[in-house]
Amino acid sequence: TTSQTPRIETRSTQEWQAADARHFLHPFTDHKALAAKGARIIERADNIYLWDSNGQKILDAMSGLWCVNVGYGQRALIEAATRQMSELPFYNAFFQTATVPAIELAEALAAIAPPGFERVFYTCSGSEANDTIVRMVRRFWDIEGRPQRKKIIGRVNGYHGSTMAGASLGGMSAMHAQGGLPIPDIHHIQQPHWFELGRHVSREDFGLLAAGWLEARILELGPENVAAFIGEPVQGAGGVIVPPASYWPEIERICRRYDILLVSDEVICGFGRSGQWFGCETLGFTPDLIAFAKGVSSGYIPLGGVLVGERVARALVDEGGEFEHGFTYSGHPTACAVALANLRLLRQLNLPRQVGHETGPYLAEQFAALAAEHALVGEAQSCGLMGALQLVRDKATLAPFAAARAVGMLCRGHCFGNGLIMRAVGDRMIVAPPLVITRAQIDEMMALIRRCLDLTLDELRTRGWL
Ligand code: PMP
Repeated sequence: TTSQTPRIETRSTQEWQAADARHFLHPFTDHKALAAKGARIIERADNIYLWDSNGQKILDAMSGLWCVNVGYGQRALIEAATRQMSELPFYNAFFQTATVPAIELAEALAAIAPPGFERVFYTCSGSEANDTIVRMVRRFWDIEGRPQRKKIIGRVNGYHGSTMAGASLGGMSAMHAQGGLPIPDIHHIQQPHWFELGRHVSREDFGLLAAGWLEARILELGPENVAAFIGEPVQGAGGVIVPPASYWPEIERICRRYDILLVSDEVICGFGRSGQWFGCETLGFTPDLIAFAKGVSSGYIPLGGVLVGERVARALVDEGGEFEHGFTYSGHPTACAVALANLRLLRQLNLPRQVGHETGPYLAEQFAALAAEHALVGEAQSCGLMGALQLVRDKATLAPFAAARAVGMLCRGHCFGNGLIMRAVGDRMIVAPPLVITRAQIDEMMALIRRCLDLTLDELRTRGWL
């Protein structure tokens, strides 16, 4: 019972770490390595800052896990949950029933979504949203009388979640290697990663070239067999890879030419992160389906879903009969109430616009200045409030470090030690701070980043790796 549960301050950090190592299997974690080191215990948070069990203050430049868009400690979200839990903590939407928050949120989502997106299917996570999309696009083509259209094309180094379908749509080779993935009829093309694959041509030419890989694969598979193409507007977990401006409009043109559904995975890019409500608006394309999660509730409570465009909605709603799919928590009233409060706050604070016109451009400026002067930074990229710094061994030739040296992880270690959460994807250092971050706080973050890069540089020199 609650009264017998020890409160946080009754155990030391070491005791928490020991209990953690004994019982808690973390996501994407080498448990033996973690147990040897001990997990960092995060105890509380406010605005863009976290505090750990040793009392260290940390600037959370990753918004939790790309999700705490409105920052920590927002009373409106906390009160929305409390109110809804008192009134009706849960009811399902299976029994020809609905709850008020689920209806209101669907309406609110339709109001901010691109034109033509009037319907929403709720899930609890981004992975479930993408699983839903696999079933929905295949169901769509069944209804259309073209059931052979089953194949879905994703991208190498894309990330769409960790369930069987989510991990299959994604193009993470380490994930595919465990558990016999991808599932059948999922294919991948190369990513639009100019720095790695395209430096022999201009960015814009490379964007067209990379989009052309989709057309080539469609022709190889036979357009009559292809159901959909899925991509993140900006690849997040893959390393904040911002594609050239020419890429997405060309992808859309190719999908239209072969009558293939276009799916935008907005789990990271949605809800203001890119500087508009949705990443497809910033990157210049109109999808048929949108997967969302994370920022919809700013991570205060699990929620995700699929925004369904006109064409798929018409088939599914008017002609499809029962869609044999759904989750206990599809349209969870407490989750929806929190998301509603979150959307109101994003709107009140005008955060998508602030990111698009003020803080996003300011971050881009600061990143460009850092890339120009710092010996370790070969390239800086950003879109709205997500950014990447590519660490290189030789700034002049942009030669990389040997992967085995794990220089990104080394840099991440300095960040952890100095009160900054930055993520390392290989040797790309990633930030995606809460959208409430101010210019002054961006300066504070940049000062920490510089210090950590300097410490990394010193360590590389000491080790003789430079
Ligand atoms: N799609 C994208 C683009 C993501 O970044 C993520 C999570 N990082 C997911 C899907 C999966 O979401 P979840 O972890 O909520 O299942």
